[in-house]
Formats: sequence, structure tokens, C-alpha cells
Amino acid sequence: MTSDLPHFTVASNLREQIEQWAQELGFQQLGITDVDLGEHEQRLQQWLQQGYHGEMGYMADHGNMRSRPDELQPGSIRVISLRMDYLAPEIELTSQLQNKNNAYISRYALGRDYHKLIRKRLTQLGKKIQQAIEAVNQQQDISYRAFVDSAPLLERALANKAGLGWIGKNTMLINRKAGSYFFLGEILTDLPLPTDDSYQKEHCGRCTSCLDICPTQAFVGPHVLDARKCISYLTIELDGPIPMELRKGIGNRIFGCDDCQIGCPWNRFSKTTAEQDFSPRHQLDKATLLELFAWDEATFLKRTEGMPIRRTGFENWQRNIAVALGNAPTSLEVVDALEKARSTSTELVRQHIDWALQQHQK
Ligand code: SF4
Ligand code: SF4
Repeated sequence: MTSDLPHFTVASNLREQIEQWAQELGFQQLGITDVDLGEHEQRLQQWLQQGYHGEMGYMADHGNMRSRPDELQPGSIRVISLRMDYLAPEIELTSQLQNKNNAYISRYALGRDYHKLIRKRLTQLGKKIQQAIEAVNQQQDISYRAFVDSAPLLERALANKAGLGWIGKNTMLINRKAGSYFFLGEILTDLPLPTDDSYQKEHCGRCTSCLDICPTQAFVGPHVLDARKCISYLTIELDGPIPMELRKGIGNRIFGCDDCQIGCPWNRFSKTTAEQDFSPRHQLDKATLLELFAWDEATFLKRTEGMPIRRTGFENWQRNIAVALGNAPTSLEVVDALEKARSTSTELVRQHIDWALQQHQK
């Protein structure tokens, strides 16, 4: 642990207090680090230069700000990195994926949108820290700002530096005691808290499960993901047609993909959450492709209100399900549903329906 000279008087047990408040607010762990991410900055630049971010222009838009939190929030010298488990206890991970008539939605997206919940809790934590500082510093203010799953920050690199885990070959943050099914959030502050500075070394060893299991072979190598081939990108971020050569690999995954986490042995240690908000809504963890393909736009908007799924939009939702139906076992019901939807669909969805129908003629 290092200790800087604070311009604030900081109670000696402030760190313990912060941990206790964080736990009360539903976080499982936190770590504190400074804002220097030099090594990661270089890797990010190389990744962007290769074009692996595809159409996710926002990843390049922020320039060096992503690896320099003090440019994002001027005056910041510390990052409090926190994690919150999201796996709802009732979720069965593999059976939904294995039944090709069922729709697979990434585990993190089945409940309420986590951004609001986590940002609110982070802000509450920041407020508590501020009040504690004010109490011993004649009302002197600290500055703090909360981030969650935020494009302008290299969250996993910060969490790694803060000691919450290592960045696995699958590019996820992995924790020895909790696997990788958790959300990350950060508080950037000018409060000179002691840092943990314990870059966690990698514990992947010789394992390559995640690289081998990826259905679209999206990994260029360990730690390097070509997002343009990743099912999460294809089903969530990409607007327009899904490249033909990747459609088969998508299988029945209609929003995101968890395979490189399901295949990770460290997820034997993942913990379930007690947060009701992360429980699946509308039984989307058990839905069939045909049920979801029958939704009209009004139903989509109503059922996905307040959920991450809303983000992909109705047209892309239908496009994704059409691809998954092309990969489903051939049956009269599947072919009927595709043919019926064809006349009322947009041009984009129709192209994917035609592809799906071709799969059932083979
Ligand atoms: S999320 Fe799925 S498609 Fe993307 S890298 Fe992991 S296994 Fe591959
Ligand atoms: S699957 Fe194996 S190689 Fe991949 S992140 Fe997990 S431990 Fe590392």
C-alpha cells in the first residue's frame, strides 16, 4: 500500500468504512488505484489501428481519454473500482443454449438495465465518502464522478490494476473467487486515498478453452478479440446485415453470447446475486425462438422496457431471431413462421429471412 500526502485529513479507518458502505450497497469487492494506465494505452492503440472495434466508433472517438481517467474527469487522481455479481440463481446456463429451438440471451441482459442501478449505488457511495471528508475538513468538498460500463474508460484495466482480478485470454476480468459474471463500476475522485496497486497477474496458465470454444472464431489470439466477428457485437452493436459467413456460428444466440465465459473454468467459482433487479423478466431465460419472433414492435417495446435488450431495436431483434431460426432444426412451424413474417418485414429482416429459409431447403 502506498500513501500520498493528502490535502484532506482522512480518517485512518476511511478505507474500511468505504468497504463496509460498498458492501451495504450491494457491491462484492472494491480496489483503489491511481490513474496511470500507460501500458494499456499502447495495447488499446494497437487494437484500434487493426480496426478490430468494427463500427463501434465511440471506442476510438475518445482518443487517449479512455486510458487517461484524469482527462475524462479533470483533477482525478484515484479510481475506486468496484464489482457486483449479476448471475440470478434461477438461471440455467447451458440447457437454453443447447436446445436450438430456444432463444439464448446473454445472462447479463435478462433483467433490468444495470446501468441505472449501479450508477445510483456508486453515487450513494461517493456521497457517503464526501460526507465523511466534510465532517473532518470544515466542509471542504471532494470531487467524484460515477461510471458504469462506460465507453470512455478502460474499466477492466483499471479493475486489474486495483486488484479485482486479471484480464483473461477471453479479455474479461476474471476473479479467482468469483469468475467473471459481474458488472464493473468506478468512482473517479481527487481524494488521495491509499492505493492497492496490486496488478493481478494472469492465472490462465495453459488453458485455451475460451479461444477454442468461440463459435465464430473471434479471437485473433490470447487477449485479442476481433469484435467484428464476436456474436455480442453482431447481435447488439451492428446495424445492417450480418455477414453471411458468420450466421451459422451465431446458432440460437439472439442477444449477446456468453460462450467464452461459460467455457472458463474459473466460473466454477462465480456467485449468484441477491439483487431482484437482475432476475430474468418475462421468462426470457426460457423463451422459444418462435414465441419471440411472433412479437410485434409494440410488444417488443413493452416487454423490453427498462432492459438492456431494448438497445438493439426491433429491426435488429427480428434480424437476429431470423438468423437463429435459420439455424434451428427444420420443422413446419419454423418454415411457416418465417414465410408468414416475410411479407410484413423490413428489407433488412427479409434478407435474413430468405437466408433462413434457404437453410431449411438444404
Ligand atoms: S462472446 Fe461469444 S462470439 Fe464473442 S468472443 Fe466470446 S465466445 Fe466468441
Ligand atoms: S477459459 Fe481459460 S484461457 Fe480463457 S480466460 Fe478462462 S482460464 Fe483464461
